[in-house]
This record gives sequence, structure tokens and C-alpha cells, in this order.
Amino acid sequence: MTTQPTASHFIDGQYVEDTAGEVIDVIYPATGKSIATLHAATPAIVEQALASAKRAQKEWASWTATDRGRVLRKAADIMRERNHELSVLETYDTGKPYQETSVADATSGAEALEYFGGLAASITGEHIQLGEDFVYTRREPLGVCVGIGAWNYPTQIACWKAAPALACGNAMVFKPSEMTPLCALKVAEILVEAGAPAGVYNVIQGYGAVGASLISDPRVDKVSLTGSVPTGRKVYAAAAEGMRHVTMELGGKSPLVIFDDADLENAVSGAILGNFYSTGQVCSNGTRVFVQKGIKDAFLKRMTERLAGIKMGDPQDPDVNFGPMVSERQRDIVEGFIAKGNEEGATLVTGGKRVDGEGFYLEATVFADVTDGMTIARDEIFGPVMSVLDFDTEEEVLERANATEFGLAAGVFTADLTRAHRMAAGFEAGTCYINTYNLAPVEAPFGGSKMSGVGRENSKAAIEHYSQIKGVYVAMGEVEAPF
Ligand code: NDP
Repeated sequence: MTTQPTASHFIDGQYVEDTAGEVIDVIYPATGKSIATLHAATPAIVEQALASAKRAQKEWASWTATDRGRVLRKAADIMRERNHELSVLETYDTGKPYQETSVADATSGAEALEYFGGLAASITGEHIQLGEDFVYTRREPLGVCVGIGAWNYPTQIACWKAAPALACGNAMVFKPSEMTPLCALKVAEILVEAGAPAGVYNVIQGYGAVGASLISDPRVDKVSLTGSVPTGRKVYAAAAEGMRHVTMELGGKSPLVIFDDADLENAVSGAILGNFYSTGQVCSNGTRVFVQKGIKDAFLKRMTERLAGIKMGDPQDPDVNFGPMVSERQRDIVEGFIAKGNEEGATLVTGGKRVDGEGFYLEATVFADVTDGMTIARDEIFGPVMSVLDFDTEEEVLERANATEFGLAAGVFTADLTRAHRMAAGFEAGTCYINTYNLAPVEAPFGGSKMSGVGRENSKAAIEHYSQIKGVYVAMGEVEAPF
């Protein structure tokens, strides 16, 4: 295995261990075998991390933004130089194929660090003239931010939260999912190597309880969670107790609408990206694929042909393009949904079975004739299961696309330009796509509406969520008082 982190936690600029913490067994999803043993943070570790972040934040915020930005950009360069070893580690952590991780994880993390590093010096206040008097605003950091990550993109999530937080002068304590605890440690190591003061970015491990104890600490000013809606509800409520700022990047059941004038090959590619990339474990996936009746047969035929191009196997093999699910439990959950699809009368077009042998492999699965009320059309599955639903008209499909509590993403494939923009305007979702799906460049805002979240990651919008404005009134004349 590649250069591994050397201990469970990274606090105050160094690796720290406390073997009194609950054991976290790191399982390689491709074999089901243990590749590392870590320990959850004890209360002493949580205390060390928060105390270190609190202390470091003051110093970090006193640096010029240009100097802070330089550290982030240097970290981006290091990540790019080490893309291979970081991608190998990401593949061990998640089971995602190296073919993906080598282009989508450390690279995406590096882009976030570079983008927010470049933006740092432009984060400024404004001047408001009031006759002779004036007000100026200062855009100040929030303080100590807590990041809590899901298991599907451990490097990317760590960087998407670290980069804007640090650019604004905050410090962070990050808790990865206990299923993928390794990658964020390398991000912390690289930030220190790039010159970040010790304590500005700390990583501690643990199950949900560790996250919960971080959120309730009075030293914490902001919580940014990537996770499911049920966890989001709990975390948002706990943060509200202390009036803390939040960013909630939660789950979805996004619609992908394919009109019969769409370019078939592109629509199939979009649906593949929106359902099977990362073995379907992507929050913004367009898992309700609404296909207009005129193109349905052609779509299903072409989809089935294209899925024959799946190459499962050892995810470290660069030729493999489809990995296992992250865990046995997640595969069981997804198999439960497949069983529901069959029971409730959807037509299984392809897939549907686990793959015998070691590792948590599951076939790419397509159901057709799915109706709005079926479980597989309502619940987030978070696995390689596509539901194809028929529709007739634009008006009908938009109403059905929006008939969900989620609002993370939505996509439309059509050759009709005005219809494409009408659909994008009508979708109740934070992130929309026209004639493509699931791209998430750092320059563009990413996040959900409705139950899918609060706030936005990436783009200039993220700065709003990691900073606050202070207004300073400056009087130039005498002070008038009534008595
Ligand atoms: P979970 O919601 O189960 O967990 C997310 C994180 O929150 C984990 O680190 C978890 O720790 C922690 N956690 C759980 N309970 C609490 C609590 N009470 N207080 C504080 N922290 C807690 O999500 P998964 O890891 O299973 O990830 C899958 C979900 O994430 C899907 O719903 C997916 O859509 C969503 N997601 C959203 C994205 C987005 O940007 N919108 C991107 C990627 C995923 P532990 O694991 O130890 O329980």
C-alpha cells in the first residue's frame, strides 16, 4: 500500500494517537479485508483538537490574505505532484476505481485549494458614504469551523470545506466518515507541509458521537456537513442550539429528464455519469431518469449496450472502470431497494445481482416502467440503480420531477434551447444541468434546496458561508444627543 497516514488523528501539526479510543477497522471494499486500524477520538483528543484550532485561528487570521492564499496554492501544487499516491489511497479508502480517483479526487481537492487560494486576497469589505460620515465593512472569519464528511469523496470533501474556510481565516476540525478515515489525514499533512500553521486544520476520527460532541462545543462557530438528510436534521438542530452557522450538503433523488429530441448518445452518457460513476454513490445523481415515450426503447437499448462496457475488478487496475460498493452494509441496503423494485412491479432491464467472490461488488442495475410512487423512485438509494420513468409532456414531467422533498440537482437533455432554459428555471434544485450531468467545477456553486441542504459549496458563494460582515460606523462630526 502507498504512504499511509501514521496515526489516527492529525492535531496541531502532527499525527496523534490515543489507543483508548474505540477501534475503527478500515476495510478495503474490493477485498473485504482490513487494511488499517484506527481509533475514534476520545474526549481528550476532541479537546486537543478544538484547543489547537482555537489558538491557531487567531494567528492564521492575522496573516495577510495573500499569504494565506499562497499556502493554499502551494498545498494544491503538492497534491497535484502526489496525485498518484493520493489516488491509490483514495481507492483503498473508498473502493472507487483508480481510473476515477486519479482524475476526480486529489485533482478536485487541488482545484478547490488553488481557487480559494487565488480568491483569498480579493475577500474585502466595502465603503458606504453617508454624507460626511461613512461606514466601512470588514469581512471577518467566523472562527473555528467543524467539517463532517460522508464516505464517497473523502479527499474532495475535506478540501471543499478546508479551502474556503482557511481562505477566509478560519481554522477547522474535520471528522471524516469512519468508513473512509485515511484521505483527510493526508490533506492535513499536506497543508502543514505547504506552510499552514499547526492547528489551522485538524483531523480527528470517530463515529457520529464524535461529530455530535464537536458541534455542541461553545468554541465552535460553524458546522459544515456532507451527509444524509436524517443526519443533516440532527446536526442542523444541534448547531441551532448554539446559533452556529451551517452548511448542509445532503442527499437527493434528482430528476434527469430526457426529451425525445435529445442527442441519444449524449443522453445515455449523461445518465451513465449520473447513475453509475463511483458505483452510483454520488449525492447529486440523477436517479429518476424521466424518458419521453418516443425515445424510451432506443434509450433502454443503447443504455444496455453501453453498460456492456463496464469492467469490474481490482479497482487499483487502471483498466477497471467500476468498483465495489463502499461497504457490506451499503451493498445490503442497495440490494434491499432492488428487491423492492422487483416486488413493486418495475421491470428489471439489466443487473440486479451481487457479484460472487470477495469484495462488495454489485451489478449496475436499470429498472424501467418505474412509477412515481415506487420506493425506488422516492428514496435515495446511493448505489448503482437507475430508475427509468416514462413521460409525455414538458408540463407533466416538470411537475413530477419537482414532486419530491429533495432538491439537490436536476438535469435536462433536449435540442430545444428555450425548453432547456424553461426546465432549468422550473426545477426546484440547487444545481442544474443542460445537456450534461454531474459536473462540479470549483468555479460553480454546488448545493441543494428543499431538504437537500442549506448554503453552497465552491464558487464565490462559499465565501459568504465561511465569513461574516462587520459594519463600522465612522462619525466625522459632533455627536448629537436629545438631552
Ligand atoms: P451520514 O449522514 O450517515 O454520515 C455523514 C457524516 O455525519 C459521517 O461522518 C457520520 O459519522 C456523521 N454523523 C452521523 N450522525 C451524526 C450526528 N448525530 N452528529 C454529527 N455527526 C454525525 O452519511 P453517509 O456517510 O452515509 O453518506 C451518504 C449521504 O451523504 C447520502 O445521503 C448522500 O447523498 C450524502 N452526500 C451529500 C453530498 C452533497 O454534497 N450534497 C455529497 C456526498 C454525499 P458516522 O459515519 O461515524 O456515523
